[in-house]
Amino acid sequence: MREKPILLGTGGCEMTETKVECNECHALVLPKIAAANGGLCAQCVKIPEKLRQERREYDKALSQGLLFVPSKNELESTQTPIERAQNNVSWELEPEFYKQQLSVMQVLKHAKSEALGHIFLISSLGSRLNVAFNGLYGVCEYQNEENGFFCYAYTADNLNSQVGDNAHLVQACPCCGVGMLWYPTRFHLPRSIAFEIVERVTGNDWPPYVKWLEYDDISYTEPGRG
Ligand SMILES: [Zn+2]
Repeated sequence: MREKPILLGTGGCEMTETKVECNECHALVLPKIAAANGGLCAQCVKIPEKLRQERREYDKALSQGLLFVPSKNELESTQTPIERAQNNVSWELEPEFYKQQLSVMQVLKHAKSEALGHIFLISSLGSRLNVAFNGLYGVCEYQNEENGFFCYAYTADNLNSQVGDNAHLVQACPCCGVGMLWYPTRFHLPRSIAFEIVERVTGNDWPPYVKWLEYDDISYTEPGRG
């Protein structure tokens, strides 16, 4: 007859206690922790309910594929860049980022030979055109702080299914080039189109196929997710 195994430490050993899922992030936690935190793990309990709710809504929208196309709000927010109606606008390099004496043309030409990078331009009317690119994709942003325009270029060719984490583009600070936030998938364009947009805009020939859509919070986007 086989002997019964001797169970050691079942009276309170945390290793053998069946863990339960945190109601929020589904991490496994000890029942007594969950009970003390209203069903949450030690991390989630520190996050205000409003932010946890935002995160839940983001995750839900992501799982339903809603984040891969512009929202109704974004589509209704189409902005006309103030430079568009003018034909004597000039675009210059962001002086904080470009320390060398280069022309916009030289920078664009160089960028097209690079595997990845950023382009930061300022118009004579004070708007910004920021471009991030890698081997596959580009993202074009148009910003006019005075008018509160923070837009991305949307075309029929923008990516509409999850960008892979190694091709995901980051929004960088125009002054120092340091990465800030991850661009949502729907901001990503084929690289060649991103370059075409920046070339045409700097030549005062705004491509009619681009919609400049205003975006708000993009801070939940993570590499390869969102
Ligand atoms: Zn949690």
